[in-house]
Amino acid sequence: KSYRAWETKKVRTTCPHCGTGCQMNLVVKGNQLVGVEPANGPANRNLLCVKGKFASYKFVGAGDRLTEPLIKRNGIFEPATWDEALTLVADKFSQLKADYGADSLAGFSCSRSVNEDNYVFQKMVRAAFGTNNVDNCARVCHSASVHGLAHTLGSGAMTNPIADITTDVEVILLVGSNPTEAHPVVGAQIRQAIQNGAKVIVVDPRKIDLVKDSALHLQVKAGTNVAFANGMMHVILKEGLADRDFIENRTEGFEELERLVAEYTPEKVAEICHIDAEDLITAARMYAKADKAPIIYCLGVTEHSTGTEGVMSMSNIAMLVGKIGKQGCGVNPLRGQNNVQGACDMGCMPYDFPGYQKVANPEVIEKFEKAWNVSLSSKTGLTSTQVLPAATEGKIKGLYIFGEDPIVTDPDTNHVRKALENLDFFVVQELFMTETAAYADVVLPGISYAEKDGTFTNTERRVQRVRKAVEPRGEAREDYAIFCEVMTRLGYPCHYDSAEEIMEEIAEVIPTFGGITYERLEEEGLQWPCRSKEDSGTPIMHVEEFTRGKGLFMAIPYKKSRELPDDSYPYLMSTGRMLYHYNTRAMTGRTEGINKISNRSYIEINTVDADRLGIEEGDKVTVSSRRGTIETYAAVGDRVFPQEVFMTFHFPDGNVNELTIAEFDDIAIIPEYKVCAVNIAPVK
Ligand code: SF4
Repeated sequence: KSYRAWETKKVRTTCPHCGTGCQMNLVVKGNQLVGVEPANGPANRNLLCVKGKFASYKFVGAGDRLTEPLIKRNGIFEPATWDEALTLVADKFSQLKADYGADSLAGFSCSRSVNEDNYVFQKMVRAAFGTNNVDNCARVCHSASVHGLAHTLGSGAMTNPIADITTDVEVILLVGSNPTEAHPVVGAQIRQAIQNGAKVIVVDPRKIDLVKDSALHLQVKAGTNVAFANGMMHVILKEGLADRDFIENRTEGFEELERLVAEYTPEKVAEICHIDAEDLITAARMYAKADKAPIIYCLGVTEHSTGTEGVMSMSNIAMLVGKIGKQGCGVNPLRGQNNVQGACDMGCMPYDFPGYQKVANPEVIEKFEKAWNVSLSSKTGLTSTQVLPAATEGKIKGLYIFGEDPIVTDPDTNHVRKALENLDFFVVQELFMTETAAYADVVLPGISYAEKDGTFTNTERRVQRVRKAVEPRGEAREDYAIFCEVMTRLGYPCHYDSAEEIMEEIAEVIPTFGGITYERLEEEGLQWPCRSKEDSGTPIMHVEEFTRGKGLFMAIPYKKSRELPDDSYPYLMSTGRMLYHYNTRAMTGRTEGINKISNRSYIEINTVDADRLGIEEGDKVTVSSRRGTIETYAAVGDRVFPQEVFMTFHFPDGNVNELTIAEFDDIAIIPEYKVCAVNIAPVK
């Protein structure tokens, strides 16, 4: 320890990494964070993972934090005053709006930042830019959940709390989710559930760590989730395990579903998914016969060209056996970023105002025009994944990115580069000079979670407090205050005295946040919907009826992924997270101890393929796709099947997104990160 206890104070806050929403105490000495201790939150019960414990504080005081506004002149960033930078931003955006119209502008908000910042960001884009071209990084991770669950159940969020689906359950159907690495505290609680007798069915193309402790592993081929789900339902119906009362009274669309899944015999599904038909039958029986059996899923379901259909398939399975609206059941997406649920709730999406109130509904437009005292566009905006190609085509001229790094995170990096280079004016608001910020015309220094008050909403819809522990560095400013300055200079005066004042406005305009106040969040947070001061929140959704009334079955035929292996690119590649790093490593990459354990990208290759190619563990290899070529290091073993490979997406050197494909789901426009075709060769 670099401190003595009596020199420090502790500030309770919420972990800034994944969507689990672990509670922790920041240990503060003077104006410096010197440590982190676990706190007893409802989602983490005194647990923290390696990222929460060790990578949540050093980056805040890192020497390379941005501390002053920067303006690019002749290709070089030069320090500027706030007044110069903000005036330039407002002038340029005004000019572009006058020349090309409001829809030539767009903004990407930050799912890592607090609800209050996200709310004000989308207000800036809508009220001051005049467009609904606003999105957040849910687009590239769980937008399929938002669309798929909202369509089938009426609400695009996790149905049950984490504690509920990891305590006293009989079976867990874990689909496309690797919680011990991506949501480690949830993973730890699943392990505890196994010790208490729960049986886990892992449905995943890789032998993830939980496979060792699981009752059954269906090692499905990546991209075949819909076929797997249809096969499960075929068996459930054939064996009389469906809940006919629930189907009759609580759902609609069953007949069409029944007709469709009749075609998906175990033998047919086994062939599509490359699994054993008997295992599929066993899985269906185990899940259907258990009283308490949640479905937990993650990006292995969403990040496909059929991502929304995969999510709707999860709803189908749960509704077929009536395992929804009940304790220890439900359909439970593990959201990725700490506040990606919140960024969606706050309306940082092109189709929805805050609280999923639809842009397409004239009453909603009227409501927000009145609340914000401004005239608003009723035209649905573009998703972030549509904005980038539109920038390449010259249709989007001005872009404001708050805390995202699409050069590293979005598929097919070359197409992102082209888009950013083609912009007339580009603003990035950030903590660090990221790969994306380097393309900006103006870079504005924002502040980290430890320097601000606010709230994050975790994966279980729990709104929890974020509390300021240290003062911002240099001239960096409160993020919402920067947006207010931009709005004011664009002719829409806006000011808030505090984050709490913003939450008061949020509670006024979002009915499901109507009962949320900072005072009520003090202890354990609140799970929305929480409609009034008397409402204690909603741990389990869809209990009496679905948010949309009746649950909607969707009959969904299986479709192949867009790019499959061929003679030129014979390996199917998937991407995903690893335990030690978080997304672009902006935070974990600035933590020395973590870098000592893991500081380079790698590709998992099956031993059979490695032997054939003459590749050994740790060898440098080139990986190429139709988009590009990178170098990385081989991790040889049996975690993946022969002819399949896996890479993490955290490392800018050997960035796997140079290879991934910009093919998208038609509904959520989410990229197909989980399937593309590559080739591998040893570096001589
Ligand atoms: Fe933070 Fe997620 Fe780890 Fe919890 S599980 S400590 S929220 S990274």
